[in-house]
Amino acid sequence: AQRRFAGTPGDAAHHAAGPLDTAKIRTRFPPEPNGYLHIGHAKSICLNFGLARDYGGVCHMRFDDTNPEKEDQEFVDSILDAVQWLGFGWNANGTEHLYHASDYFEFMYRAAQYLITAGHAYVDAQSADEMRANRGTLTEPGKDSPWRNRPAAESLALFEEMRDGKHADGSMVLRAKVDMASPNINLRDPAIYRIRHAEHHRTGNKWCVYPMYAYAHPIEDALEQITHSICTLEFEDQRPWYDWLLARLVEGGLLAAPLPHQYEFARLNVTYVITSKRKLKQLVDDKHVDGWDDPRMPTIVGLRRRGYTPEAMRLFCERTGTTKSHSLIDYSSLEIALREDLDEKAPRAMAVLDPVKLKLTNWDAVFGAGHVEPCSAPVHPHHEDMGRRSFNLTPEVWIEREDFMEEPPKGYHRLTPPRTDAAGLELAGNKARLKYGYVIECKGCEKDAAGNITAVLAEIVPDTKSGTPGADSVKVKGVITWVSVSEGLSAEVRLYDRLFKEEHPDAGGRDFLEAINPDSKKVVTAFVEPGLATTEAGTSFQFERHGYFVADRKDHVAGKAVFNRSCTLKDSWAK
Ligand code: ATP
Ligand code: MG
Ligand code: MG
Repeated sequence: AQRRFAGTPGDAAHHAAGPLDTAKIRTRFPPEPNGYLHIGHAKSICLNFGLARDYGGVCHMRFDDTNPEKEDQEFVDSILDAVQWLGFGWNANGTEHLYHASDYFEFMYRAAQYLITAGHAYVDAQSADEMRANRGTLTEPGKDSPWRNRPAAESLALFEEMRDGKHADGSMVLRAKVDMASPNINLRDPAIYRIRHAEHHRTGNKWCVYPMYAYAHPIEDALEQITHSICTLEFEDQRPWYDWLLARLVEGGLLAAPLPHQYEFARLNVTYVITSKRKLKQLVDDKHVDGWDDPRMPTIVGLRRRGYTPEAMRLFCERTGTTKSHSLIDYSSLEIALREDLDEKAPRAMAVLDPVKLKLTNWDAVFGAGHVEPCSAPVHPHHEDMGRRSFNLTPEVWIEREDFMEEPPKGYHRLTPPRTDAAGLELAGNKARLKYGYVIECKGCEKDAAGNITAVLAEIVPDTKSGTPGADSVKVKGVITWVSVSEGLSAEVRLYDRLFKEEHPDAGGRDFLEAINPDSKKVVTAFVEPGLATTEAGTSFQFERHGYFVADRKDHVAGKAVFNRSCTLKDSWAK
């Protein structure tokens, strides 16, 4: 029993659904291919495809392509890619459930002809301004169009002329005849067809009349035998129209029961994030970001480039739940989901983001000149099966600039030079451990003429290597991450932060551009473990102490390492 729509559009026989299939849930994800998907769409994808997966149903991938001027194949491709990346597909039991509103243009046209014939639609030649003025308000009923009661034959002929290209854009529309006095404005004779002399990315120049979204959508759902047509709350007031239209088409024998039902849920809103396509486009066009896939963008391509994983995205979407009440999700929930996913699977590596050179001045005496000391560490501290990584300790290593302080605050356990304290007491330099290596004792630093520190000096404390019996012979509180100067890999590291500094960037009529965080991107030259030289673009790591980083999908190539910070280890924005 094949329930999928396969017959000739307009033939009610395609509704001959088998009893088995009738029990199944059938949802759809219906984007308009007019831009890149964002995190709100991810929520809708996870909801619709997730419901189908969890209840043994099918989710249709459908393009609502009824606006020829704004749509493009580029967007179609990126949307299909985004859905698959999130881990969903539209193939069920060997059937591709990939549809387009434009597949149904012929049917929609004939359904409109039927509505005219049955007295449920008419061609209106009022101007757009007149129509707006006559629609009324929440408290005032609308006024009938002078064309509302023109004979069906006249409307039918005009509608045909519209289709045949005999009328200019905007000169007339086809409207459903419902109720101009309805308290629900959506029922005051909504327009269902408009003239657009525009080329469509799929149907070319075949059509110059296009169905309105409100007309097309219920028909698409019905033809595909969708059971749950899930949309955002703004469409709640459209439901009576949705049901009215389908009921008329059933009366005319164009559709058959069971009909789809519309269900609404609150759209996803996230603090510090903008999800309006128009505003996102402005960020791109005005070059506040480096394109739609800028790692600071809430687009799926942007989040992916930032280092978000499909698992983290799905976890986030599941956790935010599906409700009817408006809610604002805290941005940190997004990062929490990412950390949770990456903590378990990201290999670890050492990286120095703000490097200063550390010279181990007794190297030759301890090891002999030219010696390099092999060190190793687990790839993941809790997963031995991920293996070990190796790197060499050498006489010069990079350490973080903040790991040496001439005037340390109380409780500082990293490197400090020998000095005399306030009471005149001679203090030795601090001892700390080079992680996975030796304990070292700080002996001072070198400076340039301007007084800037150019190198930190220290001595190896022999027989204290990590993993050897002597490791604990000298107790230290500070552990320092490092990368060999001669063997480390230089990398461009992009330190991203939130794009907006306000929780509600576009609240209260404020210009959202004023809320842009000027420090949302900082680029540094860092050094990373030599083993990362063979890293493939798109691979995530935890850089110990610093956070999660991903090899940039676009710019990371052999010979030029580029990493993006996905998120820090802890929430640095906690209130
Ligand atoms: P825009 O109005 O910016 O053009 P849209 O939301 O209308 O965007 P569509 O391509 O029509 O974009 O959306 C496809 C689906 O994604 C719709 O079913 C819509 O309800 C859903 N969706 C869009 N934004 C959100 C959001 N913030 N939260 C939940 N679902 C959303
Ligand atoms: Mg839309
Ligand atoms: Mg919208």
